Amino acid sequence: MSRSIAIDGPAGAGKSTIAKKVAKSLGFIYVDTGAMYRAMALYMIKQGIDASESDKISATCTTADITIKHENGEQVVYLNGENVNGLIRTEEVGNMASASSVNGDVRKKLVELQQKLAETTDVVMDGRDIGTVVLPGADLKVYLTASSRVRAERRYKELVAKGVECNLDDIEKDIIDRDYRDMHRENSPLMQAEDAVLVDSSDMTIDGVADRILELYRERV
Ligand code: C5P
Repeated sequence: MSRSIAIDGPAGAGKSTIAKKVAKSLGFIYVDTGAMYRAMALYMIKQGIDASESDKISATCTTADITIKHENGEQVVYLNGENVNGLIRTEEVGNMASASSVNGDVRKKLVELQQKLAETTDVVMDGRDIGTVVLPGADLKVYLTASSRVRAERRYKELVAKGVECNLDDIEKDIIDRDYRDMHRENSPLMQAEDAVLVDSSDMTIDGVADRILELYRERV
């Protein structure tokens, strides 16, 4: 039977950085489910669909072929055969992903893909609904969070390092809006699974959080 660790939490809590580290330490595959919702959002944007057009989103998501491969230890997302890793990390795609991921048909399609990946491989999977919906039987579930200010500051630093002009208050507002949408949607809202361990990374280092998760995993398995 394959092993799995589910890491859920709001945007900017450090899920992907930490999940990657934990996966590397254990020799597991890291699965970034947000990237799949982002690839789907990119597809919708390319088709000229607006976030409010839920019928069109339902009809169109069936024609998106999203696949995941792992190349040199990195997850690569293919959308209809094209590697879209370099196209999905924009604020526009992130906001469309948050809006289109409320759609039940989009979720059904991507959850199936995620469950299939975890059937045969040991995974550290991060997202919003991994512990609650995708892998309810995960060996360890972590709900990773941090204050909205700390998360905005992390995002601000990343953007400044890339030379992008930005405003900290605007970023924090965007984060709060996205959290609200993710937590209040009807389908698979972001919430802590009953049996998940809460980890607040506001005052922790990346290594500190990764070590804590490894310790929790070893206690269980
Ligand atoms: O994690 P990331 O910011 O890349 O995710 C983009 C968006 O995809 C999130 O705001 C969320 O709405 C959605 N998502 C989701 N379920 C997941 C992963 C991401 O609804 N398992």
